[in-house]
Amino acid sequence: MQEILPGFWQIDEIGDVVNCYLLEWDEGVTLIDTGTPGNAQVILDAVTSRGWAIHNVRRIIVTHMDVDHVGSLLPLQHATQASVACHAVEKTLLEHPRRRRPNQLWLWPLYWGATRLPQFRVQPVSPDEIWVEGHVTPEGLTVIHTPGHTPGHISLLHKEKRLLIAGDALSNRNGKLTPPPPPFTPDMQNAQRSIWKLAKKYGADFDAAVFGHGPAIRQNADKRVKGLVSQIFATEV
Ligand SMILES: [Zn+2]
Repeated sequence: MQEILPGFWQIDEIGDVVNCYLLEWDEGVTLIDTGTPGNAQVILDAVTSRGWAIHNVRRIIVTHMDVDHVGSLLPLQHATQASVACHAVEKTLLEHPRRRRPNQLWLWPLYWGATRLPQFRVQPVSPDEIWVEGHVTPEGLTVIHTPGHTPGHISLLHKEKRLLIAGDALSNRNGKLTPPPPPFTPDMQNAQRSIWKLAKKYGADFDAAVFGHGPAIRQNADKRVKGLVSQIFATEV
């Protein structure tokens, strides 16, 4: 595991295709996203190798329903008995993963075919906790609704650590912050507004940021997000 900040790790044992994170708090640890199908044991091994027991995983937060983020959710829910949490709007997708479709029609057959393969198959999960914008969790995370990539996508802010957990609201690929990928972002206008919201409403609350894809930004992440917003909307934030 790679420590990003004290008490917050990236579980890099799953590789670098997608990221998932572990947050330590008073009552145990919380997992944020679960990687692709087949990552459950690797994640559990990473947790126990640091001295926690499997039942110390108290909660699993889902930023959004995509195979690379909820791929190992069901086996992890079973193994840890942790409470699974997501945004109220994302609940339907978690329970009916096939309703998640690519944005572009020509991708549908490909996507449909892929979802038959074990490495892309998402098993439905019923969340235990349903959150909305502004909810503050016992771990000290503020829930920020950042729709666009999916309708119930959330980012999370840890005010005390001055850390933004962006999920796929933003990606940090090849040294560049970008909006989520257009083929899998059915509502790009909303995705752009969500980035605006992160910069405008929460920009004073974080220095570091982590992403579903790409490396963490440890300092001045707020300035980077504001820079992207200026680029998208051709205006200063
Ligand atoms: Zn993703």
